[in-house]
Amino acid sequence: MFPLPAPMRAALDAAARAGLAGEVPVGAVVVQGGTIIATGANAPRRLHDPTAHAEIQAIRAAAMVLGRDRLEDCNLWVTLEPCAMCAGAIAHARIARLYYAASDPKGGAVEHGPRFFRQPTCHHRPEVYAGMGEGEAAGLLRDFFTVRR
Ligand SMILES: [Zn+2]
Repeated sequence: MFPLPAPMRAALDAAARAGLAGEVPVGAVVVQGGTIIATGANAPRRLHDPTAHAEIQAIRAAAMVLGRDRLEDCNLWVTLEPCAMCAGAIAHARIARLYYAASDPKGGAVEHGPRFFRQPTCHHRPEVYAGMGEGEAAGLLRDFFTVRR
């Protein structure tokens, strides 16, 4: 097995930490110039915040680090296909490239459901790369939901 790129490794580690904290295990990182500048873990239960998805957490932290709202020189790596809310945030943040691991036929909004970036009302479309780390990301989710059932 080939080693995963460091950002996806870091996103998967953040996802695993979210799972241990009782959250649905999804993690994300923002990378600028080859450096991880922000990490996000899914935390809506802990924070009592339905918008606290991993992508939103990572984008907020990166924007704070850089002191601006546009992240056009940054890439986002996330372990699960973003939902409609996060796809919207990715477009607003002007993220250059989106890498996601597992696809999400039930809640995803990139290749499923609203296919957000393909809509004429979407004014910024990141380059999208899917599938790296898919097996591990899906395994974390499967284990999480198996234990809870
Ligand atoms: Zn989301």
